[in-house]
Amino acid sequence: MGKNAPQTPLWAKTLDGLIEQGVRVTVSCTQCNKHDIVDLNLLRERTSGSYSLWNRRCRCRLTLGCKGWNRFRYVSGMAWAMWDDEGAKRWEG
Ligand SMILES: [Zn+2]
Repeated sequence: MGKNAPQTPLWAKTLDGLIEQGVRVTVSCTQCNKHDIVDLNLLRERTSGSYSLWNRRCRCRLTLGCKGWNRFRYVSGMAWAMWDDEGAKRWEG
């Protein structure tokens, strides 16, 4: 389980907000334990400024053939999970 901020700021829920705040977003895998820094500007070019990484996960892109899940955290003082209990529960189901 990741650690959640007491209250997730609104800006953490869109790419524009994250870029504006200048925070780093990292991606890590549940299985291979690799991690990387997300290029927010590149992602924004591929999606949009209102795109949200909140409660989003995708199949591992960090290790070829890995069947784990990639999840996101933003770094503001410390790394905060970009998902809540509701999202985590949905992933388990
Ligand atoms: Zn992996």
